Amino acid sequence: MQKDKIVVFGSFVVDLTSWAGHLPVAGETVKGSMFKMGPGGKGSNQAVAVHRAGGDVTMVTKVGDDVFGRVALDFYKNEGMNTDYIFIDKKTGTGSALIMVDENTGQNQILVVSGACDKITPEEVDSTESLIDEAKIVLLQLEINMDAIERVINMAHAKGKTIVLNTAPAQKLPDSLLQKVDIVTPNEIEAGALCDMTVENEQDARKAAQILLDKGVRNVVITLGKNGVFVMTPEKHELIPAKKVKAVDTTGAGDAFNGGFVTALAEGKDIFEAARFGNIVGALSVTKIGTAPAMPYRDEIDSFVQ
Ligand code: ADP
Repeated sequence: MQKDKIVVFGSFVVDLTSWAGHLPVAGETVKGSMFKMGPGGKGSNQAVAVHRAGGDVTMVTKVGDDVFGRVALDFYKNEGMNTDYIFIDKKTGTGSALIMVDENTGQNQILVVSGACDKITPEEVDSTESLIDEAKIVLLQLEINMDAIERVINMAHAKGKTIVLNTAPAQKLPDSLLQKVDIVTPNEIEAGALCDMTVENEQDARKAAQILLDKGVRNVVITLGKNGVFVMTPEKHELIPAKKVKAVDTTGAGDAFNGGFVTALAEGKDIFEAARFGNIVGALSVTKIGTAPAMPYRDEIDSFVQ
């Protein structure tokens, strides 16, 4: 089977999650019922999704010279992933996300400090040149410093690589950047932020996708949660309905989708087929609790397909 190399250039943070009967208000201390620490960050989650889905992926990120940095290295080693491009920052600590979950409603409050992965230097970006030379696909998100994102996109674009940009978390982006991107993969909120509109249904998604094509993006894939995925290329568009599953935790669904999507692209599938594959990976991820630990393995994906 064709298996082109994928580079994920993105964030790593340690998720520190606590559950309680209610979320604290300012100044309140609440006694919680459970605590979990685990690897997180959109970049890292997406790289894990690719790896488990059977893709050949190298994660590029930056962690601190601290205990949380070792969480990243131990986790990737355990998963069997390449750690050659995990840069270490001697001054800034590893990123963290403090997540509080109301166990009755599922509502959460999250405070993310990007830490080291927000401090990737131009020299570090440039040192990935040979890695990017070997790859076919470069997948990025918006959780690391913007100057590094732009530098990677410029380098990968000049080399004719397929650039997939998951525009998360939501923010506006200059057209000059979007024009170098082959495929953007926002969710509804992120598509809305890019296009200055509200995206809530297929009709809105179609309008937003057209706006993005007009801005110069080559292809648009908008994830619509339990409503599936809307895909638009210059030639055609299609809504791919979500798979029916019992959702227990939808955090990380977008990361699972993106990981699955680029894995299929690297196997030579077209955008629509790749989105169908991502749609399955996204669906399987919501049947389990957590982000990276909830990413499905290829045998689970294959048996779901059958
Ligand atoms: P994000 O996590 O970025 O908000 P979405 O909520 O749009 O992303 O979900 C990404 C993808 O995951 C969807 O396009 C779909 O393929 C899958 N997915 C999400 N929620 C569900 C669900 N409840 N049932 C089945 N698939 C889902």
